[in-house]
Amino acid sequence: MTTESPTILSAAVLDALGEIVGRDNLVYGPEELLVYECDAYTIEKQLPNVVVLPRNTAEVAAVVRLCAEHSLPIIPRGAGTSLSGTVLAVTGGVMIALTRMNRILQIDYRNRRALVEAGCVNAWITQAVKARGLFYAPDPSSQSACTIGGNVATNSGGPHTLKYGVTTNHVLGFEMVLPDGEVCWLGTRPEGGEDVAGFDLRGAFIGCEGMFGVVTRVLVGLSRAPQSFKTMMGVFESVDEASQAVSDIIAAGMVPGAMEMMDQLITQAVEAAYHFGFPLDAGAVLIIELDGLAAGLERQAARVIEICRANGAREVRLAKTEAERLELWKCRKRAFGAIGRLSPNFLTQDGVVPRSKLPEIMRFIRACSERQGLRIPNVFHAGDGNIHPLILYDERDPEQVRRALAAGHEILAKCVELGGSVSGEHGIGVEKIDFMAIQFTAADLAAMQMLRRVFDPGQRCNPHKMFPGSKRCSDFAPKKQAAA
Ligand SMILES: Cc1cc2nc3c(=O)[nH]c(=O)nc-3n(C[C@H](O)[C@H](O)[C@H](O)COP(=O)(O)OP(=O)(O)OC[C@H]3O[C@@H](n4cnc5c(N)ncnc54)[C@H](O)[C@@H]3O)c2cc1C
Repeated sequence: MTTESPTILSAAVLDALGEIVGRDNLVYGPEELLVYECDAYTIEKQLPNVVVLPRNTAEVAAVVRLCAEHSLPIIPRGAGTSLSGTVLAVTGGVMIALTRMNRILQIDYRNRRALVEAGCVNAWITQAVKARGLFYAPDPSSQSACTIGGNVATNSGGPHTLKYGVTTNHVLGFEMVLPDGEVCWLGTRPEGGEDVAGFDLRGAFIGCEGMFGVVTRVLVGLSRAPQSFKTMMGVFESVDEASQAVSDIIAAGMVPGAMEMMDQLITQAVEAAYHFGFPLDAGAVLIIELDGLAAGLERQAARVIEICRANGAREVRLAKTEAERLELWKCRKRAFGAIGRLSPNFLTQDGVVPRSKLPEIMRFIRACSERQGLRIPNVFHAGDGNIHPLILYDERDPEQVRRALAAGHEILAKCVELGGSVSGEHGIGVEKIDFMAIQFTAADLAAMQMLRRVFDPGQRCNPHKMFPGSKRCSDFAPKKQAAA
């Protein structure tokens, strides 16, 4: 099968791709291709043979048909912000980057929907509709860069997932190109009613990590923006106390819009980078946002403050103005960016544990950090029990790379042991392949493969991801000659 060996692209195919999208929309020089050698999971790298930048669905379909005729692997790509190597061109192949298909095509205020091209950046949708009191709810911290197509393929969440749900709860339908080049629409059509008869293939596709085809246009649902917010910062002596406060707030029957935690190391890095006024000596900072109708929000905020204090919070500071609230979120969402001050490289993990197990997993991460001799700051969606330990390492030191991978492995194994999962939102990609057989039975994995073959019988679409037995980039690295 073609995806079992490094892809070879003939000059004739390159010319044919150039004829479809225009030579200016092809990237194939080795230096230019470096931009596409990995995503935000930088431990493994591999160049695609060519990147095509189509401008419409017809071009995407023609490119995909050509690849089908020549049995070439295709790799759909958005902004390349994936944190688990979901966009890695493991065997090379034709990468289809949707970034030039980034328009908002239609906003239907009456039905609260927007039709956008797959390469549209997530945050642009809310920017376009906020003047009318609407917003697009899924808000990954990467939302100023990541695309709606990438969000669909990874079923992205974000800080406000706790109350509003993830991408699948807000995507009504989409146009896609199947790996044989056929264009189809799954779910609600822009001109149609919301209910669609038959199987929910839209739902089956969301989270497929680019293995079922290429999304070209997406119909998203818009939500009514909350009337009022109460956003506060709880300052705790320890992660344990902050975690307990998170559990107690939910147990008290409240569902905040978001509950995000930062431990001391990340708080210090964020403060050094953005100067918000975070306390440098706090064991943990909890950002809690309540939203909804103004009536009653004051009372809820008072209850939250009471719970935080009962769990040892030394201070709970309310954002006094909208500008302050937005600044607080900007700092939280740019927290990963602040890591550059601490380390040349970091590996982000994305495990999930039951909320009540947060103190235990955080203790485990601290012990793991000591065992492996690597610093591990934490910033995460505490309300969902979705942890993001950031394992700091230097890729120039192979020993540190080994220990970073070992630490990631230990932490994810512990999440599974605690009754959680190895991914809350970043996906499996190449990074977590080994965990699939731990989390799922052979029968589960076979059923997933069968579903994949319904969309992509040849398994050419984003090959060597997610499933045990997939090839790794190292399988295709030039082998050293054995000593004579
Ligand atoms: C700083 C930072 C913060 C982040 N925070 C969050 C967060 O809070 N929540 C969260 O869920 N994720 C987060 N992420 C991860 C990442 O941003 C999301 O997974 C995002 O959805 C990826 O979108 P993208 O456009 O960059 O897609 P890419 O990284 O380019 O691709 C991701 C996957 O989608 C597939 N794909 C992309 N476009 C298409 C398409 N048009 N059709 C079919 N398949 C496609 C690719 O093949 C790949 O499998 C974060 C990443 C960073 C770097």
